[in-house]
Amino acid sequence: MEKISAVKGMQDIFQPESGLWQYIESLIRDEMSAFAYGEIRTPILEKTELFVRGVGDATDIVKKEMYTFSDKGGRSVTMRPEGTAPVVRAMNEHGLLTSGDPISKYYYIGPMFRYERPQKGRLRQFHQFGVECCGSESPYIDAEVIQILYNVLTKLKLSDISVRLNSLGCAECRPVFRQSAEKYFSGIKDKLCPECAERITINPLRIYDCKTPSCKENIAGAPVILEHLCAGCKDHFNEVKYALNSIKVPFVTDALLVRGLDYYTRTAFEVTSKHLGAQDALGGGGRYDGLISELGGPKTPAAGFGMGIERVIIAMKNQNVAPELKTGCTAYIVPLTKNEAGYAFKLLDILRKANISSQMAVSEKKAGAHFKDAEKTGADFAVIVGEDEIKNGAPTVKDLRKRTQQSVSETELANYIARNL
Ligand SMILES: [Zn+2]
Ligand SMILES: [Zn+2]
Repeated sequence: MEKISAVKGMQDIFQPESGLWQYIESLIRDEMSAFAYGEIRTPILEKTELFVRGVGDATDIVKKEMYTFSDKGGRSVTMRPEGTAPVVRAMNEHGLLTSGDPISKYYYIGPMFRYERPQKGRLRQFHQFGVECCGSESPYIDAEVIQILYNVLTKLKLSDISVRLNSLGCAECRPVFRQSAEKYFSGIKDKLCPECAERITINPLRIYDCKTPSCKENIAGAPVILEHLCAGCKDHFNEVKYALNSIKVPFVTDALLVRGLDYYTRTAFEVTSKHLGAQDALGGGGRYDGLISELGGPKTPAAGFGMGIERVIIAMKNQNVAPELKTGCTAYIVPLTKNEAGYAFKLLDILRKANISSQMAVSEKKAGAHFKDAEKTGADFAVIVGEDEIKNGAPTVKDLRKRTQQSVSETELANYIARNL
């Protein structure tokens, strides 16, 4: 029979790599507990409409990248391409949205799906950590979500990261900017890529993050949003910068940063790494004051971000900061013949009850071959059980690191191993 492989662009994650995932996830959970955010887990599958309305039908995600299909009841469903719209949907559905204090604060970690051309750092099933903080316009909320992403990345020992910050204005000042951008890009329409030529009237902001070289060149002379901010947006932006300075989160202002999604208002930010190459963003987000009402909820200002876990892992490896994690077990139990297996199985139970990671050999081999197996598992101790060991109620414990061995009574076994670890 032909071997069945995984679906293109989707990867299996297993030991020892999965240990690194657990390490990152547990660091995130600790950080989220310090920031008093609760976890939210939403379904992988949502109604397609959620993303059409929440992400925007002019975005690449909705136009070309979604895993959308009809279920057996003929309903159009989509495997989530991002985390914000589902979290907002769930918060609204369960009455978790507040206006003012206390603010609703949630985080998520989980897989997202986009049908893109697979390349390094870009998979069709990828994983994101994200936060959504809903119920306030306060610039301290913007600063807080930026700080979370910055803290997580620096606690993972990533250096050479840079926080890029911009303001995209609000419903009052953005249309004015949009008009002048439309006017500018219409004048140079023939110099833009075909996609951007189309974007001029649909969403000229998207032209600013086009990666086509000819577009990039022409963006240099385009109007800049920061010069079109209304007084309210200007104040808000200054306060976000003040708050970040006060907690020493370094950032640079990047007037061309617009992010790929339509829903951002005011703050937009991205954190990039010098160790990633062309796809250099580790994560990003911003404020989305209009999204919740767009999705049928009460008018609720909010901010959040998403961070790509695969990208973070690539950056950690490129920077050699991925920690050496111990894999395998502590004790490897070797019954010398099948006659000793029953007693060995009892010892295994004693060790496991004492939370000592243990496993037992189940095939008959020469002692030397068993010791090689024990080393393959990464065990620190081999616990040998032969006829004499059973008679004395004391297995022989071989320290595989020091190459010493000793007889230890059954009742002392767990303590002995814990003490000598
Ligand atoms: Zn404004
Ligand atoms: Zn373009």
